[in-house]
Parts: sequence; C-alpha cells; structure tokens
Amino acid sequence: MRTHPLDSLPAAIPAGPVRSVLVFCGSRSGSDPRHAQLAAAVGRTLAERGVGLVYGGGALGLMGECGRAALAAGGRVEGIIPRFLKDWEVAEPLCNEMIVVDSLHSRKHLMFEHADAVLALPGGLGTLDELVEVLSWRNLRLHAKPVWLMGDGDFWQPFLALLDHVVQSGFASADITTYVECLPDADALAAALSLP
Ligand code: AMP
Repeated sequence: MRTHPLDSLPAAIPAGPVRSVLVFCGSRSGSDPRHAQLAAAVGRTLAERGVGLVYGGGALGLMGECGRAALAAGGRVEGIIPRFLKDWEVAEPLCNEMIVVDSLHSRKHLMFEHADAVLALPGGLGTLDELVEVLSWRNLRLHAKPVWLMGDGDFWQPFLALLDHVVQSGFASADITTYVECLPDADALAAALSLP
C-alpha cells in the first residue's frame, strides 16, 4: 500500500498526568440499566481518586448519573454547555462550575482543553460525534491524550469493528485501532488513573 503524508507527521507532545477526565456519554439512559450503574461508578471513581470530571453539564441520562455520582462523592465537576441547550438538556445545578458557551464546537473544544484524558461511555450521536472528533485530532497528531472506551454488554464492539473495517478498506493506517483502550469497568479506570 502506498504511504500517505499523514503517516510521517511528527508525533504529538506526550500526554501528562491525568488530573481531570472528559467523559462523553448519552443524554439518555439507554435500554440496559447497567449503563446508568456504570456511569455512576465512573463518577464515583473519579471523585475517590481526586480526579476532576469534565463533561457536557447535562442533568439527563448517563450524563446526569455520572455528574451527580461524582458530586455526591465530593468530586470536582465542571460542566460545559451551549446556551441553546441549557434548558433543553437541563444544566446540572450542582456542578462546581458551569461554563456556558455559544456552540457545540466551543463546548467540544473547551471540554477537551480542560481535561487530560477522555472516557466514552455508551451514548447516541452526540457521544459518537465527540469521540470520533477526538480520535481524528489524535490521528492528526494534535494530541496524545488517552482515550478510553467503557460499556457493558459489548456496547463498543460495533464501533471497534468499524475502525477495523476502515483500516481493512485502506482508508486509515492500522494505528487508529491503537488510539482507543477498552476498560472493562470502573475498577479498570481506577487502575488506569493510578498509572504514572
Ligand atoms: P447523545 O449521545 O446524542 O445523547 O449526546 C450526548 C451529548 O452530546 C449531549 O450533551 C449532546 O448535546 C451532545 N451533542 C450532540 N450532538 C453533538 C455534536 N454534533 N457535537 C458535540 N456534541 C454534541
């Protein structure tokens, strides 16, 4: 296969210690109650480890579960929400900090700037959009922050299969499959946060 100019881009600056994690997840709870339990376990784990949670700031669905669990466990929680979604998605009133921005693009950019790692839990189109954008930035060597996937019941399997398919079809280097790491549960997140 012919090489692509992207393959010789210089590496991104290595990621630093993880002091805050950006969590992408659904504004709905999904059909499997295990998703909500997992989102709450993630919020608790971050708080117990003294790691800040950065997220979209919504009080609905898995976003609400994760944010409230972190707050209940004494964690630091920063929400970033576009003005037009503030009422519609119900901004979580208990967040330590709520930043209101003008657009989804600003939200995504600021959330990413304020976090040292990214964790995607199950979600819908918004979650997928956010995850794919972060991976595409990684592919352009704009960052080297860890990107973790976590979901009960093989939720992310079709997504991983799609990445493989893109590689097999010659549209990306096999590197893209190394940009994500699957964590089976919140204990694995705690272990990943303990790594130097
Ligand atoms: P969803 O996974 O669709 O429930 O959405 C999760 C979060 O992503 C919600 O806060 C949505 O407002 C947000 N979202 C939806 N579409 C986008 C998008 N195109 N870019 C960034 N965030 C989005």
